Amino acid sequence: MNKYTGIIDTHAHYDDTSYNEDRVSLLSSMPENGIEAVVNVGATVKGAYQSIELAKKYEHFFAAVGVHPDEVHILTEEEIEIFAASTAYEKVVAIGEIGLDYHNMGSDKETQHKWFKRQLKLSIAVKLPVIIHSRDAEKDTEDIIREYSDRLYGCLMHCYSYSAESALALKKLGCKFGIGGVITFKNGKKLKEAVDALELEDIMLETDAPYLSPEPYRGKRNSSLYIPYIAEAIADIKKVTPQEVIDITNANAKKFFPRLTDWEV
Ligand SMILES: [Zn+2]
Repeated sequence: MNKYTGIIDTHAHYDDTSYNEDRVSLLSSMPENGIEAVVNVGATVKGAYQSIELAKKYEHFFAAVGVHPDEVHILTEEEIEIFAASTAYEKVVAIGEIGLDYHNMGSDKETQHKWFKRQLKLSIAVKLPVIIHSRDAEKDTEDIIREYSDRLYGCLMHCYSYSAESALALKKLGCKFGIGGVITFKNGKKLKEAVDALELEDIMLETDAPYLSPEPYRGKRNSSLYIPYIAEAIADIKKVTPQEVIDITNANAKKFFPRLTDWEV
């Protein structure tokens, strides 16, 4: 099905119940379909633990532990300590997804700020990069990142959705950018402009599976097997081949997540 090799999906949620029927067959089929590695990202406390379980079960799976801004109202300091301890496991490659979401407002702003900062401090303490979720909260996200940027071990803006101008401002703070299915959408003009403004070295591929399927699967359940559509859309913008996009973003991901490389040796 897939003619490309070396794909790294830097953001997926295979702990989601929509995979309960076929999780084993789908995840097992990935290596033969060109998927070299997947970072399964925690959104809830439970999701963080399930991400670690997936990393233990599948050779090509890695975990990020953290709690999404929609869920932080139930986060506790004890949980943060358990996350810190869990990073002793070498396949935990990042803290995430953490950040701000003023669209859903699952938690109030004050609570979101408190736990975003707390999880940034956690990433500094355990010397791991962060994966950031930011929706309708551009200025506050940038301000908080700026506060910590000197001390961070890497900052990946997952499912980047702001302007080209903002991307360049965030790049100055050391941020990298996760590009997913939206790049294939007809109304994805803003993201196409951002990708055009950035260098391929600033970009990583991601699905956010089960969400945000690329065209022609928009609206359906997403999976890492659809990443070629994303690579092809980026290749069009950057005037390179899709395999070049995959190769460069593969190298970017291994540089950004040092434990992806360490584990391979
Ligand atoms: Zn996500």
